[in-house]
Amino acid sequence: MGYEVGQIVKTKKKHPCGSNEWEIIRVGVDFKFKCLGCGHIVMLPREKALKIIK
Ligand SMILES: [Zn+2]
Repeated sequence: MGYEVGQIVKTKKKHPCGSNEWEIIRVGVDFKFKCLGCGHIVMLPREKALKIIK
């Protein structure tokens, strides 16, 4: 399954702010996500990112 920038995804684990929805802001070798709850941005290696997305 492919992912694209701007897509909203849910993760298995909630962010400490209580939200589990993230906007994808970068795809590639690394994925970048922005938390829709608090705006926090995280970057993860693709392999790990694909594992945490529901
Ligand atoms: Zn958050």
